[in-house]
Amino acid sequence: MAGRLTREITEMRITFLGTGAGSSTLRAHTGMALECPDGTKLLLDASSGNSVLRHANAVGLNLREFDDLLLSHDHPDHMAGIDFVQFDRALFGGNCDPLRVHASHEALEGLKRHCLATRLNIWDISGDYGRNLEGREFLHWKPSPSGHVIELGPRTTAWHFPADHITGASGWRVECDGMAVVFSGDTRYSPEVARASEGADLLIHEAFCVGDTVLASNAGHCTGGEAGQVAAEAGVASLVLTHLTDAFHADPDPLGVEAAQHYTGPITIAQDCQQITLG
Ligand SMILES: [Zn+2]
Ligand SMILES: [Zn+2]
Repeated sequence: MAGRLTREITEMRITFLGTGAGSSTLRAHTGMALECPDGTKLLLDASSGNSVLRHANAVGLNLREFDDLLLSHDHPDHMAGIDFVQFDRALFGGNCDPLRVHASHEALEGLKRHCLATRLNIWDISGDYGRNLEGREFLHWKPSPSGHVIELGPRTTAWHFPADHITGASGWRVECDGMAVVFSGDTRYSPEVARASEGADLLIHEAFCVGDTVLASNAGHCTGGEAGQVAAEAGVASLVLTHLTDAFHADPDPLGVEAAQHYTGPITIAQDCQQITLG
């Protein structure tokens, strides 16, 4: 009898569960799922409402298998979906572990205030956990300082770095088996993001508009050209633009065209439910 064939997974897969900016009405707010070759499954931001759950279902991902969430900052278009991710686990997750939320201290404090305000299953935020009325733990607060390397799986590590957006805002760098993926989070143009992205296989960078760097900066964001500049400075192997406003939903090409004036590598504009594989 033939033995069971097993195929070693050597790829890192990124699923875009939401690619819209806070003002977007045509895309889900920003969130991603990362599946690493060592089996580690991570959420990178959580969109708002039930978007990450809906889009995960649409592409066949079960978010109850994702025990770690890397949060960029505590604006609701990135964080408010945590309500429903933990609520789904509470109702249908059996004995799954509390969802570990990794973030800067400031972003986690914002999340805790949000949980207390919405009171969806979480009523107690004291100590290291968010708990329901019976005291069961559903969220595990995991604050870390910038640059501190966190072990997330047998061969997966991550660390966050400051983004230029609001207090406590960060981007994240995730590495596994020699592959590196960086997410800028929301940010103005920042050399800090370029430093943290050095040599990455993929930089996922936000892009707010084209041409008007002052408009972008005043909104706490950057232009497609500035995202391309960061990708070029960092020498990344590929660039994905995300966190789009409605103005670029139907025709996002101007963002990519402007990025390409600075960065000569491959550029993709993310779409909801799109999957990208590295390795
Ligand atoms: Zn945002
Ligand atoms: Zn933001």
